[in-house]
Amino acid sequence: MESEEMKKPVFDQEAGSLLVKELRANFAAGKTRSYDWRVAQLKGMIKMMEDHEPEILTALRDDLSKPELESSIYEIALLKNSCVLALKELKQWMMPEKAKTSLTTFPSSAETVSEPLGVVLIISAWNFPFLLSLDPVVGAIAAGNAIVLKPSEIAPATSSLLVRLVGQYLDSSCIRVVEGAVPETSALLDQKWDKILYTGNGRIGRIVMAAAAKHLTPVVLELGGKCPVIVDSGINLRVTARRIIMGKWGCNNGQACISPDYIITTKDYTPKLVDALKHELEQFYGKNPLESKDLSRIVNSNHFARLSKLLDDDKVSGKIVHGGARDKTNLKIAPTILLDVPRDSLIMNEEIFGPLLPIITVDKVEDSFNVINSSGTKPLAAYLFSNNKKLKEQFVVTVSAGGLVVNDTAVHLAVHSLPFGGVGESGMGAYHGKFSFDTFSHKKAVLYRSFAGDAPLRYPPYTSKKIRL
Ligand code: NAD
Repeated sequence: MESEEMKKPVFDQEAGSLLVKELRANFAAGKTRSYDWRVAQLKGMIKMMEDHEPEILTALRDDLSKPELESSIYEIALLKNSCVLALKELKQWMMPEKAKTSLTTFPSSAETVSEPLGVVLIISAWNFPFLLSLDPVVGAIAAGNAIVLKPSEIAPATSSLLVRLVGQYLDSSCIRVVEGAVPETSALLDQKWDKILYTGNGRIGRIVMAAAAKHLTPVVLELGGKCPVIVDSGINLRVTARRIIMGKWGCNNGQACISPDYIITTKDYTPKLVDALKHELEQFYGKNPLESKDLSRIVNSNHFARLSKLLDDDKVSGKIVHGGARDKTNLKIAPTILLDVPRDSLIMNEEIFGPLLPIITVDKVEDSFNVINSSGTKPLAAYLFSNNKKLKEQFVVTVSAGGLVVNDTAVHLAVHSLPFGGVGESGMGAYHGKFSFDTFSHKKAVLYRSFAGDAPLRYPPYTSKKIRL
């Protein structure tokens, strides 16, 4: 007899096509366009979080053993803020924007009208599985689209909770969650969408973009990369150490796209910085961080093996100056600092996405810019700790990255008036706040003319007199 598992219907090409057809019909019927519909969905999302916060926290603990406070702030509060902002600003965002006209069209008036794109696909990643799934959905709702969300199969507890809660609190005739891995995502990618927002690694980003190209579908790719932290001397070392630690280990134990990936500092300053990091790490996570409840685990055994390989690389042997402990059974890796790793080591040639933090030393802090730029890829975020005005200016001009932060790490994510997105290998397009609304809108140019002022000059016959004018 067939098992229950075998009977479970697979989400295939045909299912994908039927789903998009249904959503397209509902979009065409105008269901998602009204201000009231958008407001109802955003309020529904807030209510969903209020009613089910304990379940959300449990799912995140099951998927990543994510500390409750981290989940409350980075997954739930940030999403709530997005909804609240959208609710507050939506009327304004939806208003047509007046535009200047030119003498050529006088008399006339003009405006840019934001219209929903249609049916959009959002594919999200496992590391902040609640926020990264629903935050783009907020923008897509605000802009009046029908939506399919595909959460990551690597965070299965959150993924199945999302199916249940979204079905319960949002309008399922226009907003749907499809669970699954490669076959299901491929079935979705075969369909024609009006926009795809993908969060994840660049290898799959290329697959998404190639699939989108077949239908001329625009994409937003929220990718990753190696985010550098430059540390100058003459700074508040304690605050610097604490803020680096929070961006690195306090964000899902380094499994965040904007986590500091490596530090660049001067040879002279290194001992002080390492001491400060060690001291603050012990204050935060105790003498045995593998037992700390305040650190997420590594998401699964594949990622544990990937990170172990970076540590076991012969080229970094003897370079660990702090941490290094691993617990394979519980998928835990302690905060680990490596000093003076060779540039051709594995750890310096791929995004770390975990609790390992190499430090690279330079003679002069200004040399750091060259280290970053010579990598050939543009990071998603870059950080500088300095009190030197000239160095800060140089940093802003010289370093190309999705976002820059001076004297902190990762917190730009919470500033909704800033666009969040990458550049080059770290991605394309951006969202958050009004940028999310714009990302999921088409900016339609509308020109209004009257029948008055009909200049005969523009009409044939093009006489030589007209040409001379
Ligand atoms: P992941 O493994 O969860 O994959 C992301 C999504 O791609 C999932 O929904 C998955 O089902 C789908 N996918 C996987 N293989 C696929 C295939 N062959 N075809 C189609 N879809 C497929 O996440 P990940 O890639 O391990 O995430 C980590 C990466 O994401 C890091 O590089 C990180 O920097 C980046 N990231 C970026 C952001 C950002 O906002 N810029 C946020 C989080 C993570």
